[in-house]
Amino acid sequence: MADQLIRATAANGGIRAVGVITTRLTEEARQRHKLSYVATAALGRTMASGLLLVSSMKRAESRVNIRIKGDGPLGGILVDAGLNGTVRGYVEHPEVELPPNALGKLDVGGAVGHNGYVRVVRDVGYGYPYTSTVELVSGEIGDDITHYLATSEQTPSALIVGVFVDKEGVQAAGGLLLQVLPKAATDEALIAQLESRVQTLSGFTPLLRQNKTLPDIFQELLGDMGLVILPESQLVRFDCSCSFERVLDALKMFGTEELQDMIHKDNGAEAKCEFCGEMYHANSDHLAQLIEDLQLQTQPLEIHKNSILF
Ligand code: ZN
Repeated sequence: MADQLIRATAANGGIRAVGVITTRLTEEARQRHKLSYVATAALGRTMASGLLLVSSMKRAESRVNIRIKGDGPLGGILVDAGLNGTVRGYVEHPEVELPPNALGKLDVGGAVGHNGYVRVVRDVGYGYPYTSTVELVSGEIGDDITHYLATSEQTPSALIVGVFVDKEGVQAAGGLLLQVLPKAATDEALIAQLESRVQTLSGFTPLLRQNKTLPDIFQELLGDMGLVILPESQLVRFDCSCSFERVLDALKMFGTEELQDMIHKDNGAEAKCEFCGEMYHANSDHLAQLIEDLQLQTQPLEIHKNSILF
């Protein structure tokens, strides 16, 4: 199945279900960032979580940012997902590899670390974004995002995300989000029923690898609970909003003196977009033009020599 997101409801609208397949976009991220196996799993799980979280927002411009920072060797993870089906992200140390954990699985929790935080920013495209931070539970990401939903958004939720990667690349990736909506939030029996069903799943990627489609999976989980699968499926993809123009804008922040230095010492400047790994090269002419632009500005700019993020 192509990378896509499908929504459904059950229990007379008391349950909201979303499923997403992210196999190809996770493979694209793996190649772009040269991710190790465990880094592929960590970033892939976080990207699937981002797409699942943003799927409940309403305004077309809505985006969700997930920042996970644990004390493990992988360093931070940052993912940016849009309601339009685009997602991008990176990990701080993409090369980190760990031996399998006690269950014989990729040790995502060990790589991310067990202590740290998850920060979720929901941005509807205007006004102040809604930001919330919770502590890490296990570093396995699915548990951590579920904990975030329960404590910060007070929505009883079950979230399963997974990535299956082997030496040929990513073979299956994606996730499921099941939520009990406010109208049914006091229905303890419904919540218990949902939890027990989700616990019967051994994960998300085994289902995909059995060639099950998202509607098949919904049917198995919620088929006897008044399941309604919404007809529209949405394509999802890895996509970054970076551009050469943005790189030039970012370079401008260095100020005239630094730019002149870059011309004399390096004949230009190279910048890498952290989110997608794209390399941009500005030559001396580009930098000279930036200096000219700066000199036309009446207000002196403050000089920031931080890493460039755009
Ligand atoms: Zn980019």
